[in-house]
Amino acid sequence: MLPYFRKSEGLAPSDEIPVDGPAHNNAGPLGVAVRSPVLRAASDFVEAAVAAGIPRGDYNGRDRGGAAGVVSLAQSTTRRGKRSSTYHAFLEGEAEHRPNLKIITGAQATRVILESQSRQMEAKGVEYRLASGEIDTVHADREVILSAGAIGSPHLLLLSGIGPRPELEAVGVPCLLDQPHVGKHLKDHLLVPLLFPAPGLGVTMNEIALSMGPAALRGPGGPLPADPADDANLPADLQALKQEAERRITEWETTAGRA
Ligand SMILES: Cc1cc2nc3c(=O)[nH]c(=O)nc-3n(C[C@H](O)[C@H](O)[C@H](O)COP(=O)(O)OP(=O)(O)OC[C@H]3O[C@@H](n4cnc5c(N)ncnc54)[C@H](O)[C@@H]3O)c2cc1C
Repeated sequence: MLPYFRKSEGLAPSDEIPVDGPAHNNAGPLGVAVRSPVLRAASDFVEAAVAAGIPRGDYNGRDRGGAAGVVSLAQSTTRRGKRSSTYHAFLEGEAEHRPNLKIITGAQATRVILESQSRQMEAKGVEYRLASGEIDTVHADREVILSAGAIGSPHLLLLSGIGPRPELEAVGVPCLLDQPHVGKHLKDHLLVPLLFPAPGLGVTMNEIALSMGPAALRGPGGPLPADPADDANLPADLQALKQEAERRITEWETTAGRA
């Protein structure tokens, strides 16, 4: 996979992390960056781990340090403070207007169309459903590439008749290719947050919510009314909170994305 990861990646150069150069590319379309500004709590955490004997390293490099692991500030799929989504990275701009590319949105793929070719099964196209309920198909001259995610891709294979025969037949899907492993062995990526009081070091969840604009502060659970139409008679302290949230999100919208 490494040649393809390198082709994709546009890692922003940073002095803040150890980078395994040959495992990365700085010029690809998918933005990867260290969060900026670096929070003191984050750099203190890295230093504490180093002091405890965990080597500094590049966890997106070729060597993750074996059993000892490595410690680093996190790299995230962002470019200049904004998420580098699939659309922004690969489609937006020139690419989405290419004459040999047609993007169909608001559609759900319902089946890969399979045909038997001299005892071999070939994927010949995809059937999909539009929001209107209308069913349509596209035909493939060369190949069909499924990229519907860890759950969506096996789901589509199962709907297409590729999967464990007994399970498909039990729900009335004709089995075209008996593949007992399809839809099995999902490995989740577990994350365990450990929370400690660290006054003055980090950023509180309230601060984060405030920086996400007024919508993040609305009910249920938030201090602002669920419906913006009910903001008219806000008490002065909530009015000030709303204004500060608006100021922060506007600052982000107008400055993020700039070099
Ligand atoms: C909160 C979060 C943060 C993450 N942060 C990072 C990060 O910073 N860096 C990193 O490297 N990884 C990160 N990951 C992991 C990364 O997002 C995934 O590994 C990656 O998105 C997988 O890409 P994919 O194209 O295989 O599938 P997905 O991104 O899941 O894309 C599948 C797409 O197919 C669509 N789809 C599914 N079924 C159908 C259907 N039947 N018809 C039509 N469309 C369908 C889905 O709607 C979806 O848009 C993060 C994941 C999460 C959840």
